[in-house]
Amino acid sequence: MDDLVDVAVVGAGPAGSAAALRVLQLRPDARVLLLDAATFPRDKTCGDGIAAHALDLVEGLGVPGVSALGPPVPRLRLRSPGGRVVDRLCARPNRVVRRTVFDAELVAAATARGARLHRHRVRRLEVRADRVLVDDVAAARVVIGADGANSVVRRLLGAPGAPPSTVAVAVRGYAPVTLDPDALVIEFAPGPYPAYAWSFPLPGGGANVGYGVFDRRGGGSRAELVEALRALLPGQEPDPATVRGHHLPLSTGPRHQPDGRVLLAGDAAALVNPLTGEGIFDALASGALAGRAALLGPAAGAAHRAAVRRAFHRHHVHAGMLARLLRHSRFLDAAVTAAARHQSVFDAAVDLGLGRGTAPAHALARVALTYATLRRPPARPAA
Ligand SMILES: Cc1cc2nc3c(=O)[nH]c(=O)nc-3n(C[C@H](O)[C@H](O)[C@H](O)COP(=O)(O)OP(=O)(O)OC[C@H]3O[C@@H](n4cnc5c(N)ncnc54)[C@H](O)[C@@H]3O)c2cc1C
Repeated sequence: MDDLVDVAVVGAGPAGSAAALRVLQLRPDARVLLLDAATFPRDKTCGDGIAAHALDLVEGLGVPGVSALGPPVPRLRLRSPGGRVVDRLCARPNRVVRRTVFDAELVAAATARGARLHRHRVRRLEVRADRVLVDDVAAARVVIGADGANSVVRRLLGAPGAPPSTVAVAVRGYAPVTLDPDALVIEFAPGPYPAYAWSFPLPGGGANVGYGVFDRRGGGSRAELVEALRALLPGQEPDPATVRGHHLPLSTGPRHQPDGRVLLAGDAAALVNPLTGEGIFDALASGALAGRAALLGPAAGAAHRAAVRRAFHRHHVHAGMLARLLRHSRFLDAAVTAAARHQSVFDAAVDLGLGRGTAPAHALARVALTYATLRRPPARPAA
């Protein structure tokens, strides 16, 4: 086994890289080991949508130039289940960057700063008084579990299972045709559970397309999810070789961060936004917080739990409440109509769905007023 390292990070996705980068930003001489089961660059099943809010965090970690990886996508166009449409400029443009590229860039930044990357699939942790043993490959003062939606570290920490209503399921693929090169396009589906299809324009042409359901009970087979995508976005046909499915642990699921030397971040900590399925911002933010707490040794777990709560609690309360309301499609119709009428409602919705925003009273009041006066929606155009 290698010498004792200060921090071992399991998983080198956005959460893991952010954690490594923050440790080394705070203590440039720290010994940081990044362990990942995959060789980079590696694919990650994702919509590849990188919010402006996420890019701010990357800049804050001292990694410049990541926004240059994808051209700005200035607009967001969203259709509600009842056919209401909002199509507006975002306060700041978002980007679309393939995860093969985005994640590899962050890993390269972490290794350039001094982290050691090692290919290894972690299976066991043994927590001792002064260290944590990671299989037979490493011993670390603190371990950060950033190993994604199927986190082994989360399981080894004894986290409770997530109820199906707090887990989304989604498929994504790559289509050769771009629907709108200047817009992230989202079409909500009618039905018992909130669900939407997306088409996000890729740099150089084509689109990342997909379909997701915000409740595991509403998710069908991969073929059924692709069929739902076809019905909502005809012509946005994914290349079958690129179609992959995965689940998303939403922030409405149970929180779990015990005291001690093992921390959780990103999907492993169940932080995906329940309104949009966005998880990269939350992975970067929680990864950076874990990196800071990791320097505290045995006090790391308690410090990280408190820091995540301080950073996310109000957002989680608001997003969770709105996620429950969105189960009523008429509420979503009203919210989209209000966002189409008022830039301030639209901006608040973007901050809630792509960042760490809360629902301001004025925006809620406008949605409530719209809800009360909503007339029958226009018929959805035939596919
Ligand atoms: C279909 C779909 C579409 C999505 N679209 C978007 C989107 O457009 N925008 C957005 O912001 N979010 C999106 N998300 C969510 C986003 O992909 C995740 O929230 C984000 O990737 C979480 O980052 P992470 O670093 O926590 O985990 P991951 O990115 O999953 O990284 C985890 C890493 O851990 C490694 N690993 C796993 N197990 C082990 C192990 N035992 N040992 C060692 N290494 C291990 C993996 O190889 C991987 O590299 C989408 C998710 C899905 C499923």
